[in-house]
Amino acid sequence: MGVQGAIFQKSPLVAEGKIIDMKKRIFIRVFPFNILSYPVLLNAWEKNGVDKEFDIKIIDKPDLIEKTAFNKDDVILYSFMTPFLPLVHSEIEKIKKSGVLIVGGGPHINGEQELARAVGFDILFVGPAEESFLRFGSDLLDNKVREGIYRSSSQDDNLNSYLPISKYFKTIPPLEIMRGCRWKCKYCNTHLNRAAFRNLDSIRAYFEEMQRRKLQRVNFISPSAMEFGAVKARQTDIGQIEAVLKLARSPHSRGGAISGSAAGSAFDFKLVEYGIFPSEIRPDTVCDAGMKILKKYVSNKAVTIGAQSSSDARLKELRRGHSAADTEKAVEIANANGFLANLDFIIGYPGETARERTALIEFIKRLTGKYRVKTHLHHFFPLPGSGFAYRLPSFLSAREKENFLELKKDGISKVGWIGNERQVIDYFDWLKNRFPTFYERYH
Ligand code: SF4
Repeated sequence: MGVQGAIFQKSPLVAEGKIIDMKKRIFIRVFPFNILSYPVLLNAWEKNGVDKEFDIKIIDKPDLIEKTAFNKDDVILYSFMTPFLPLVHSEIEKIKKSGVLIVGGGPHINGEQELARAVGFDILFVGPAEESFLRFGSDLLDNKVREGIYRSSSQDDNLNSYLPISKYFKTIPPLEIMRGCRWKCKYCNTHLNRAAFRNLDSIRAYFEEMQRRKLQRVNFISPSAMEFGAVKARQTDIGQIEAVLKLARSPHSRGGAISGSAAGSAFDFKLVEYGIFPSEIRPDTVCDAGMKILKKYVSNKAVTIGAQSSSDARLKELRRGHSAADTEKAVEIANANGFLANLDFIIGYPGETARERTALIEFIKRLTGKYRVKTHLHHFFPLPGSGFAYRLPSFLSAREKENFLELKKDGISKVGWIGNERQVIDYFDWLKNRFPTFYERYH
């Protein structure tokens, strides 16, 4: 019998006529950066009745880590991205001696397990975790959990079975309609998961739940929004995208009948967002037909386009598969269809030159003068499992920083990269001090 078909039962212990609650405590460590990660995992437990067999507790404040008396029968879950590993490590150091089983998952662990073990994790989740989390629940109840890795198998990678909806969380995250990616851009580790798309029935089930809760805003997680449903990288299947967006709009509010697979559903969401965070668009997938479909259905007035660099040589090295001219063309098409273009760029790439940075500033200024554009800069951070996993960032000189900050004064660029730069500096300080042999792997 598979885990989904298993019946999870546990008898209470009776001592001196009293029932002793034997439920194992599962602590879920929630931070602002991971609050969207847990609902879909708990949905897998809730759908199979597993959660009822445990005493599930949310820890959303650091002082609760200090105040809780953990013991060896407890389990604590962490989900995190690499920049937050030092923070997670500082908590693990406080609780490790208690014997609590420390379980980790998320993008860092998906790409790298050796450092994660060194930091103190007992159990690691690698790959899409819904089904393996269910197996973990079963193993906990059967006392079969050993230290090690829960790895998803290819059959586990089923995006459609679960929704990011849990009774333990009030917030409903955006719906992940695309997982993984067919590209392997060197700074990114999304490709570690196979590209998969959620089907319309599963999307409809999510809309029904949103409507039942009277929620008015729907948005989606898709690493490459215009490739949703496409059979190959760089291709688009506008019909698949339209089917999702059409389903999100009530036939009555659009003033026309909806046919085909959306028939019978009448959703009336006030805000439907697509092509903007967290469903950004690759420049080479922006086309007139696609933008027209978005314009017909979405509420967002801007689309976010991953430009990443203004240098063709850099884009080639990154294996982006597009040029700076493709970015400009994408901006032109987006503007022509009434969308402001939000452009994402990364600075601080390994080996980035002063000339490259100057050229980027000129590119941003030129596009801003010619089109309706806003830019958002990010600082490079080497992500485990990516092509640049062990490459050190380059850092801007004080003068170069000023030049980029000038862009902000002109209202051109937001300053997210300053915070990102701090994170990367802090991360490498931590790694150098606490895990020097891992630090030595970077060049
Ligand atoms: S940067 Fe975007 S297109 Fe490239 S691998 Fe990551 S998700 Fe895919």
